[in-house]
Amino acid sequence: MPELPEVEVVRRGLAHHLPGRTITGYRSSGKALRRKTADDRLRLLLVGARVVAIRRRAKYLLVDFDNEALLVLHLGMTGRLGIFPAASPLLPHDHLCWLLDNDRELRFNDTRRFGSVMLFSRQKGADPELLLFTDTGPEPLGPQLSASYLLARANGRTIPVKQFLMDGRIVAGVGNIYANECLFAAGIKPARPVGTIGRRRWQRLIDQLRGILDQAIACGGSTISDFFGTTGEGGYFQVHFSVYGKSGSPCPRCQTPIQSFKLGGRATFFCRRCQR
Ligand SMILES: [Zn+2]
Repeated sequence: MPELPEVEVVRRGLAHHLPGRTITGYRSSGKALRRKTADDRLRLLLVGARVVAIRRRAKYLLVDFDNEALLVLHLGMTGRLGIFPAASPLLPHDHLCWLLDNDRELRFNDTRRFGSVMLFSRQKGADPELLLFTDTGPEPLGPQLSASYLLARANGRTIPVKQFLMDGRIVAGVGNIYANECLFAAGIKPARPVGTIGRRRWQRLIDQLRGILDQAIACGGSTISDFFGTTGEGGYFQVHFSVYGKSGSPCPRCQTPIQSFKLGGRATFFCRRCQR
């Protein structure tokens, strides 16, 4: 499943291709994604509209248009976005295609069809972003995430810190991989009750989380040229993990074998010597 860094890499890749381009056509496979796509509306609102910007919130991509339409995309489990020459043949599972005014096409490919596409018109009043993200916590790479904020949200609570971090209402978009990795980097045991963590350790955790996410994004950045090629291959990148998926391997710091267990139903990896 794409995690936040991969979605951010896709955003940065698309930011080179989409802003300033006008949508000149739309076609779809007719198959439902997570929900049935509103093909008529997608055609009506977006054909003729020009892309102004592409943004990310949590694991959603937001495309702003000059007619105040807002396209919101989620990659789900297997969704991929790519820019292709318009004449190139479609690949299996290319479900939605937006033709651009430079003879290229934005294609949404999704094998398992858990992805989603939503379309809003800001002209209708209520700001769709407020509706969609009411319960979404601050971005991990944004200025609103601070030790004070986490300290306040954790105060008096006993849930394990790993589950707390993966709760999108607390922090946006931290998935299982990055929760495991940042807790190892910060030396905090995944099962530790959140209410027992002090300000300095929260700060260390935030610093480590940001460093790891930045590194993953930078690493993915080097594959952008492949990702937006004609083959649609690539896009996933090798990030060096310290503990994730490393059960039984020596801890990179102290050589103690990494242990694993299920926490809240999710695979959890840690070093019992380095993490307290
Ligand atoms: Zn260790």
